This record gives sequence, C-alpha cells and structure tokens, in this order.
Amino acid sequence: MTFGKVNVHQRPPINIILHSIMWGKLLIAVRVYRKKHSMSIDYESLMLKAIDEAKKARRLKEVPIGALIIGRDEAILARSHNQVITRDDPTAHAEILSLRKACRIAGNYRLPGTTLYVTVEPCPMCMGAIVHARVARIVFGAYDPKWGAAGSLYNLPADSRLNHRVDVVSGILEEPCRQLMQDFFRSKRTPPPAR
Ligand SMILES: [Zn+2]
Repeated sequence: MTFGKVNVHQRPPINIILHSIMWGKLLIAVRVYRKKHSMSIDYESLMLKAIDEAKKARRLKEVPIGALIIGRDEAILARSHNQVITRDDPTAHAEILSLRKACRIAGNYRLPGTTLYVTVEPCPMCMGAIVHARVARIVFGAYDPKWGAAGSLYNLPADSRLNHRVDVVSGILEEPCRQLMQDFFRSKRTPPPAR
C-alpha cells in the first residue's frame, strides 16, 4: 500500500500534465504563426518586385509576367519580364530570361539554393528549365489553368520521375497578379472605339 501511495505522489497531478500539453501546443502554434507570418511578409515584398517586372512587360504590350531570382544570400540575383514579341523569341518568358541572367552572373548552368519568384505559375518549358537549373524553390502568384506546370496542368516540381524536386509556394499576392493578366486579355478582346 505504501508503495502504491508513493507512486501516486510521484506522478504529477493531471492538471499539471494538461497545462504542460496546453502550453506546449500554444508555443508550437506561436512558433508556426511567427514563421508563417514573417515568411509571408518576405514573400510578398519580393513578389511586389516581380509585379514591377510584369508591369514592364505590360508597357511593351507583352503578356504581363515578371520574375526574379533570389540567391542563397537573399539578394536579388536577376530579374526580368516576358519579352516574346519584343525579341521574336518564343522562349523569352520571364523565368527563362531570369535564369539566363542569373546563370551568367553565377558562372554556372545550375543555381542550387536559389528561389525563383514569378507572378504566374510557370509553363512546362519554364518549369523544365527550373528543374534543369536545380532551383530550390519557386514562389508564384496566380495559377494558370491553361499552361501551368506547377500544379494546374502538370506538377513537374513534385514529379518523382525527374531527378530534382522543387519546393512550391503558391498564391502570394495572387489577386494583383491575376488582375494584371485579366486586364491585359480583356483589353485585347475589347474592340477599338467606333469613330
Ligand atoms: Zn514559361
């Protein structure tokens, strides 16, 4: 009996156990929130710069898509915007032009540890180049149901048949990124005013 009593006294009371679990969960929740919050602020400020690039494409009457590449040191390595018409080049997408610039600067055809920001989900061509370049992560704004290869039509970043996985963060400043595209295509469809 004494043995049993000693055991009961050694065991922490149930309310202390529950408190510990509660506090533990609370601390984890705070940590997750802080991480998510600080990361989303970072993503958004960089996505705004990609949007600035997209607006440069719009001024050239190109489909308004902008991209930038962030190096391991968090500095902007390269930035560009869609220029297929300007350059008479079907490969001159914002992502491809940014990859070319970043590779030239890095003196390397691969860009491990980098993050590519782009206002719209990459197409299969760009996603293929991103995998070839071993980019670590892509962050994009709006999904592209017609061409998207990072979850919409294809999911190349997570395709286990390829020898490189790419982390994907989507929906960062999704609304302004999509709005740019919608306004552009709407203006294309709108007939010129009658004289
Ligand atoms: Zn593309």
